[in-house]
Amino acid sequence: MARCLRVLGFLFPTSMACAFSILPPVGRSLNGLLWALLIFISPLARAFDTVVLDAGHGDFDRGAAIGYVYEKHLALDTARRVEELLKKAGLKVVMTRSRDVFIPLPGRASVGNRYNNAIFVSIHYNYNRGGSGSGVETYHYSTKSFTLAAYIQAYLVQRTSMINRGVKHASFHVIRETTRNPAVLVECGFVSNTTDRGRMMTGEFRKRIAEGIAQGIVSYNKAN
Ligand SMILES: [Zn+2]
Repeated sequence: MARCLRVLGFLFPTSMACAFSILPPVGRSLNGLLWALLIFISPLARAFDTVVLDAGHGDFDRGAAIGYVYEKHLALDTARRVEELLKKAGLKVVMTRSRDVFIPLPGRASVGNRYNNAIFVSIHYNYNRGGSGSGVETYHYSTKSFTLAAYIQAYLVQRTSMINRGVKHASFHVIRETTRNPAVLVECGFVSNTTDRGRMMTGEFRKRIAEGIAQGIVSYNKAN
């Protein structure tokens, strides 16, 4: 079956991604189809022992901001929480930044390309004008990164009950240029949305976001 799936993935990588991203928002519980898809693509996961965590933005680059709520702080706090959980699970963790400093995008990708048997996970919070956007989404660029994105997205939705915006394809620098390993970028909710922002401002909710991301990573590893 695995070979058949690889052929399907090779022939229709983007249509798989699109099919995933157009799933209706599931809100409080995971859509059965989402789980079926995870089981279906499990053979495409691969084992690793190192996770490169990339907290988006830093220093003068605040990222999304409303008032004094800055994406750079939220992303770093979330990444630190994920780091702790992954270390407890026995994985090695490398942070592209562990304090409020600016790292240029090529520097982040080069850390992502430095290790064998590794994955790269970039953590961000989202923004849209008008504030209507809400929920979580996970991006991949290469086909080999799709399964990791699907795992993280599924567990993140399950753990937080936030709106499921799906797994999406995009050419963001850090996931495009991290070529050695599976690389994904997680958008953990909208700073611009009043409801999302209220949630993400509490440590309890960022803890849940971190648990969802960490559970997705650990389950992806075990699925191999
Ligand atoms: Zn960002």
